[in-house]
Amino acid sequence: MAVPKKKTSPSRQGMRSSSKHVHVDNMTLCRNCDDFRRTHHMCLHCGHYDGRHVITTKSQKRAQRALDGTENT
Ligand SMILES: [Zn+2]
Repeated sequence: MAVPKKKTSPSRQGMRSSSKHVHVDNMTLCRNCDDFRRTHHMCLHCGHYDGRHVITTKSQKRAQRALDGTENT
């Protein structure tokens, strides 16, 4: 098993994890709903990507069920 030669200092851990956050520059507006979405990712709010509807989100399913009147609560 490969073993690290030195202990990773808290400073090093911080420097590594600083690049893992989603930065504002990586966000853009959805063309369908004008909500923020990550670039090259589908919109989590409306499920659109590149002008196409690719996935039905939970909130959309819930709204559709409420319209159908088949809500089981
Ligand atoms: Zn959207």
